[in-house]
Amino acid sequence: MSARTVRPANQDSAGPRILVQKYGGTSVATPARIRRVARRIARSRDAGWRVVAVVSAMGHTTDRLVALARQVSRDPPAREMDTLLSTGEIITAPLLAMALQEIGVPAVSLSGLQAGIRTSRSHTRARILEIDPTRANAELAEGRAVVVAGFQGFTESHDVTTLGRGGSDTTAVALAASLEAESCEIYTDVRGIFTADPRVVPEARLLPAISYEEMLELAAVGAKVMHPRAVEIGELYDIPIHVRSSFTEAPGTVITRSAGVEDRNRVRGIASEEDVAKVTVVGVPDRPGIAAGIFSPLADAGVSVDVIIQNVSREGVTDLSFTVPQADLAQTERIVRELSASIGAQGFSSDASVAKVSIVGTGMLGQPGIAATMFQTLADAGINIDMISTGEIRITCIVDRARTRDAVRALHRAFQLDVA
Ligand code: ADP
Ligand code: ASP
Ligand code: MG
Repeated sequence: MSARTVRPANQDSAGPRILVQKYGGTSVATPARIRRVARRIARSRDAGWRVVAVVSAMGHTTDRLVALARQVSRDPPAREMDTLLSTGEIITAPLLAMALQEIGVPAVSLSGLQAGIRTSRSHTRARILEIDPTRANAELAEGRAVVVAGFQGFTESHDVTTLGRGGSDTTAVALAASLEAESCEIYTDVRGIFTADPRVVPEARLLPAISYEEMLELAAVGAKVMHPRAVEIGELYDIPIHVRSSFTEAPGTVITRSAGVEDRNRVRGIASEEDVAKVTVVGVPDRPGIAAGIFSPLADAGVSVDVIIQNVSREGVTDLSFTVPQADLAQTERIVRELSASIGAQGFSSDASVAKVSIVGTGMLGQPGIAATMFQTLADAGINIDMISTGEIRITCIVDRARTRDAVRALHRAFQLDVA
């Protein structure tokens, strides 16, 4: 543990230590669940903590807001979208503060702006730049529980931003860092981090601990139980993150630096992502600068390009394939259409029926047999591999979206992840 976790700066001056608790959409889906969350917060206070609760929108509110926007606009402007989406969390926070006061816990709700969460201006995927904890600290010092609306912040010019889907996790961990909290608890609808999504693989095993590194990699390739940026901030500021269920008292999973847990050299987890599309630029002249010519404009537009494959060139031309988030496909197509004309490519095609399946684990380092096992397992299941990309502790295959679940289950079996 770091020096700061042992001896938080606020301990001497202002009494009890701070615990940040984040409650996801399912945990606050109904008034009854909000009352239950209030009781859990009261118990943590009784145990001696000062509590900051970060809340998500109730149930599927955010999805409904997205659908609502699409009914009035084919391509909703990102700034207005952010103001709209932020309202989901704006409903939950005061409701929880009321429920707390109802059971005798002094409480106050804060919007992202009131909580001092300043972000970049990239609407719908803003990054937290800085948190001014003055207000939250003042409320805590007055003995109040502080309830913060997750997922949102504000720009220099006081426009509302959101942090990307699942972003309340990031609000929580960033607040924990800024308030020098002892730890950050993420309450969700599963018991913790499993070897794969337990909704896809029923025999997936709960991991008592996982390293930031492995969790970040899993989150980045689709394990939506944690927002990737939250894990990154946790690692940067050494905040232990406890992922657990709000419906039980079980300890769940701790994400820490040294999850010296299972020491066997093996794959730690499997993740998949269906929100991907593949784009192929056909007949690209093979000369220096072409890749930069294609990917720079996409980067400028904020499109994050993922798996990239350039074919061997024949007669001076080559094909270039890459994947993008499906939500960015329309924009990518617009950009690539213009580009392929200007760089003299023959054309382009796109395929929105692919998915990404990844295996992750630090135990994979220097173990060439693992890649072979992954490819053989998919082959045996009759699943064609469209593209492959590898990282130090990850291998990703692009496969037919209809076979995603089959791929995840087959790999989980092949790497014996159900066995402790
Ligand atoms: P919340 O609303 O609490 O933030 P999310 O829906 O964002 O909850 O994340 C929890 C979900 O993440 C689970 O219901 C589960 O289906 C999914 N999930 C994906 N991969 C994993 C994993 N490896 N371990 C646990 N849950 C996972
Ligand atoms: N409500 C937002 C979403 O559904 C943020 C979150 O829940 O973390 O993505
Ligand atoms: Mg989430």
